[in-house]
Amino acid sequence: MITNSVVRAETITIWMAEAEGDIRAQSDYLTQLDAAIGDGDHGTNMRRGFDAVGQALAGQADGLPPGRLLILAGKTLVSTVGGASGPLWGSPLRRAGRALGDADTFGGDQLALALDAAIAGVIELGAAQPGDKTMIDALTPAVQALRDALTAGKSLEEAVRAAADAARTGAEATVPMRARKGRASYLGERSIGHQDPGATSAAIIMAAMSRAVAETRE
Ligand code: ADP
Ligand code: MG
Repeated sequence: MITNSVVRAETITIWMAEAEGDIRAQSDYLTQLDAAIGDGDHGTNMRRGFDAVGQALAGQADGLPPGRLLILAGKTLVSTVGGASGPLWGSPLRRAGRALGDADTFGGDQLALALDAAIAGVIELGAAQPGDKTMIDALTPAVQALRDALTAGKSLEEAVRAAADAARTGAEATVPMRARKGRASYLGERSIGHQDPGATSAAIIMAAMSRAVAETRE
């Protein structure tokens, strides 16, 4: 059966809270991944950023529509995270928020458009292509899977689950890739054989989104 799940402000606050919890729980793992091919700060960066997002949304978000919440989350990440991840996550969340405008609710098609805008934000900032071993390798297949599922008539809940699965598979697929962007690219061939930390956190964030949509289903 097709359910007409609708995304609303609560979906975004739950998404960000779930992301905060999961990133905190996996912070050491993300840092280990970054220690192998970067500078070992990815878990700390993401944790600091998403802790601040949780606080910002808890404190100032009453009555804001979903798009505004994402813009607030993005601004918070930019201002609290020093590493590449601050702007690399802050910019796409702001873009996604702007794409949603001031609507109180939205559905799967708008969610796909918002994620397109988010990916465009990451690419504009970092110029990564699919296959460069970055967060793009988790996000791009996720949006593709979301769209494919919606086109096939799946419910939003099923579609976001497919997106989360595709993000995880995409993150795992970074293992044999050679990094062409960011610090890991300095390692050249030696970046091969390790999972990209940013793609891994992107998969965590997409899984959190999937659960938030399921939890706030109408
Ligand atoms: P830093 O590299 O400043 O230490 P982090 O460790 O927090 O920042 O983040 C590293 C992650 O950022 C990488 O694993 C990768 O997924 C992502 N990343 C790095 N450069 C780019 C880029 N140009 N485009 C997209 N993502 C990138
Ligand atoms: Mg790092």
